Amino acid sequence: MGITRLEIDLTSLRHNYDYLKSRLKPNVRMMAVVKAFGYGSDAAEVALYLEKLGVDYIAVAFTQEGVALRDAGVSTPILVLHPQPDNFENIVERCLEPSIYSARILKAFSTFAKAKKQKNYPIHLKINTGLNRLGFKKSDLEFIVDQCQQTTAIKVKSIFSHLAASEDKKEEAFTRNQIKSFTQTAEKLIERLGYRPFLHQSNTSAILNYPEAQFDMVRAGIGLYGYGNSPEEDLHLKPIATLVSVISQIHSIEPGESVGYNRAFQAENKSSTATIPIGHADGISRALGNGVGYVQIHGKIAPIIGNVCMDMIMVDVTEIDCQEGDDVIIFGPDHSAVGLAESMNSIPYEVLTAVSQRVKRVFHL
Ligand SMILES: *Cc1c(COP(=O)(O)O)cnc(C)c1O
Repeated sequence: MGITRLEIDLTSLRHNYDYLKSRLKPNVRMMAVVKAFGYGSDAAEVALYLEKLGVDYIAVAFTQEGVALRDAGVSTPILVLHPQPDNFENIVERCLEPSIYSARILKAFSTFAKAKKQKNYPIHLKINTGLNRLGFKKSDLEFIVDQCQQTTAIKVKSIFSHLAASEDKKEEAFTRNQIKSFTQTAEKLIERLGYRPFLHQSNTSAILNYPEAQFDMVRAGIGLYGYGNSPEEDLHLKPIATLVSVISQIHSIEPGESVGYNRAFQAENKSSTATIPIGHADGISRALGNGVGYVQIHGKIAPIIGNVCMDMIMVDVTEIDCQEGDDVIIFGPDHSAVGLAESMNSIPYEVLTAVSQRVKRVFHL
């Protein structure tokens, strides 16, 4: 297929799911995080495939992502990590389960659920244990209990928190403190509520590095897509997505000639360049231009030369035996997104989720 496409290998997804599950203690459940189009792949395909494999829960960041999954036929419970009051109508209509992260959101959702005559509508309480992004503080505990006991319209289904540095061994003391703090707050809440919601705190790196933080469920994101935030764990995982393009045209460039906008590349020697139909509008950051980033052609590295255009890049193929129409790998299992990310001081999360919706998704079993 001679066009730019993102090839997604569902067998690799299954492998990653099985591997992460093999790292869980008995009876720990798995939530698959499919926010941001399944980390740039395809949220619906990933969720439906994992649903068939028996995944226990799905998480998305925003309400519209959950609505899209329901439209695609996903019936597994879906946690919305970051809802707003303006989303509540859609949340209840589509049986999505909100993360409740502040007094404002708790009051607003409780009022909404009552008005909609809900009974025991499942909510998930987010506790801030040090990330300082979203979540209740320890001192909000009485307020939470009070609000929950005032009504039967809502019911706490789970209590959760998020770790700030589970991939970073240097922050082990901080992480252990987050785990301890979460355990204490959750146990106090359970005692005061008089029932036991399930608990979860681990993302991918915590699954791998902190088995004591598995509680009742874990929330796996990047690991499912094949990246483990460390060279050792990457060996066990398989990147599910391969970003592939094609050589549209090859040019012979004479010394002194320039390539691309603003003449950013100037040839010193006679060289060959290949033009590839993928640009910053497809997710190739402009930061990757001018020799920073590179692609792979026939197993060889071809640096991006000049500025990244909206719809194209030019790469140096002087040393590569290649032809117009040949495949170009931007990243994939044999040409990791980790390297591409590092070249622009980023992380695979950003490289993967940057692949824009203009790029065709192709699925393989
Ligand atoms: C994105 C996210 C995750 C998944 O993290 P990974 O590092 O991709 O496994 C889990 N929990 C929350 C709250 C998140 O926002």
